[in-house]
Amino acid sequence: MRILVLNAGSSSLKGAVVDTETGRRLASGKVERIADGGHAAALATLVDELDDVGGIEAIGHRVVHGGTQFSEATPLTDDVIAAVDALTPLAPLHLPANLAAIRAAREHFPGLPQVAVFDTAFHSSLPRRASTYALPTEVANQHGVRRYGFHGPSHAYVARRAAEHLGEDLRDLRVITLHLGNGASACAIEFGRSIETSMGMTPVEGLVMGTRAGDVDAGALIAIARAEGLDLDGLDNLVNKQSGLAGLSGVGNDLRDIEARAAEGDDRCRLALSVYAHRVRKYIGAYAAVLGGADAIVFTGGIGENSAAMRHRAAQHLQFLGARLDEDANRDARVDVSSPVAEISSANSRCRLLVVKTDEEGEIARAAAQRLAAAGAKEAGRVIPVAISARHVHLSREHIDVLFGEGYALTPKKELTQPGQFACVERITLVGPKSELERVGIIGPERSQTQVEISRTDEFALGIDAPIRMSGDIAGSAGLTLRGPKGEVTLVEGVIQSQRHIHMTPDDAQRYGVQHKDIVEVAIDSAGRDLVFGDVVVRVKDSYKLEMHVDTDEGNAADLCRGHEGVLYGTEGRVRSLRKQPR
Ligand code: ADP
Repeated sequence: MRILVLNAGSSSLKGAVVDTETGRRLASGKVERIADGGHAAALATLVDELDDVGGIEAIGHRVVHGGTQFSEATPLTDDVIAAVDALTPLAPLHLPANLAAIRAAREHFPGLPQVAVFDTAFHSSLPRRASTYALPTEVANQHGVRRYGFHGPSHAYVARRAAEHLGEDLRDLRVITLHLGNGASACAIEFGRSIETSMGMTPVEGLVMGTRAGDVDAGALIAIARAEGLDLDGLDNLVNKQSGLAGLSGVGNDLRDIEARAAEGDDRCRLALSVYAHRVRKYIGAYAAVLGGADAIVFTGGIGENSAAMRHRAAQHLQFLGARLDEDANRDARVDVSSPVAEISSANSRCRLLVVKTDEEGEIARAAAQRLAAAGAKEAGRVIPVAISARHVHLSREHIDVLFGEGYALTPKKELTQPGQFACVERITLVGPKSELERVGIIGPERSQTQVEISRTDEFALGIDAPIRMSGDIAGSAGLTLRGPKGEVTLVEGVIQSQRHIHMTPDDAQRYGVQHKDIVEVAIDSAGRDLVFGDVVVRVKDSYKLEMHVDTDEGNAADLCRGHEGVLYGTEGRVRSLRKQPR
């Protein structure tokens, strides 16, 4: 997808066109010195500047604050815009600019889908113990005072890139990411989820930044305000604009200038560097404790990517973590778009040190495209409810007579999704050569032949080997003994593992573009256990109700829960069919 990413500040508007298939940035531009209410004109100028702008399919907006309400990228509707507007008190400088750009873009590109990608969303996974300030609960709740965290797209992107570089799944890793730019924040990422981050309710907390103070004693601010007679705007200015590297060094917020002056012996600049590095190292230690160890530490942002000297200072004395800097690799590390990852730890470093070039626009585009694809799948009606079919038995009349007594009628307990099918009150025991499974459910009504459907795990327990078959196809399948209250039946065949399948009506089939006996893929989106099921057989019948069935092993592999849905793939090229192929 070709996405225009817009990043609006109070006086600037940055834009980039990203192809999310290749991850390539096709164009980028920036308009500065925007006056109040000038975002529409700025957008028009920017669009002229990005002459590649043709072919844009959607717009991704960087939105600085999503409060507690937005924990993922969200398509912008009137309601969503109103909800973001209501969050303005949380980010009074940034959100109005974001909203101005959103409104301008909706006017300029009326036909295109627009998605808000929130800086805070990645940190919505923070546990309460990390997001809560020790302030009076009532006051905090009333004003939304808690730690939200920022730089989400950057932390998410560099952590993913780091895992790719290490050849590991991010969900197996504990990563500390350090975004050191003009703004700076650290993040503790446990198995892919942010569990602690240094920016708080606002982007002022945490590390030393270009002009922001980071952590500072609240009592000190009160004392300064009293002594200097500062009002709230004065205090705001102090911690946001006059502090950080600029306030420490006295030569501005650009680290390059400070490094140059420090090299000449300027004491304020030398102190600025060591305060900055000390704060970073302190957070690394704290986050290693929060994570119970770290597999990787990632440097990014203008300073993290470019200042070998700052990385050197920040990565001192981390041997206790198993992190050893390779000084040569650190000095020589260069990251750019074509080669965004450099490793700077020594070969014997248990915790790996990496430099990763961040790509916030790329990540915003990716998040927007992914959200639209998910919404598109839903709209296109490719979403399918998925249910776990636990081990069960269908019984013939003849076998009911033996197991429960002549002429016995099974007692329905619960209607099942497929019309006419019901779970029974009665239960039976499966007797295998190795063990027995008790209290196995029976599904009514009675059938012409008895059939037992179990999972691979059940087979191991019972000590048998059943084939994967469609229901009804039992010739040559496995045998087993069934025990009921009145007698036993020994089956020569009839035990199968049910082939995963989807029940649907002819209307459904037409909507999905599939036919009876087609084999399709169904993707399950599951927190931590995403899975694509292949070899799913489509079964079409007027009386069916739309539902995919998997057995307990399959369901657990995808961590399925009640009400789960999957997305059907395979309308283009990936559909195989049983129709003409004998199995
Ligand atoms: P932003 O947060 O505004 O996107 P950046 O990520 O571009 O900012 O980071 C800006 C910071 O990176 C500045 O302090 C700048 O001095 C620093 N920086 C950029 N290049 C270098 C370099 N080669 N050496 C040291 N610092 C650098």
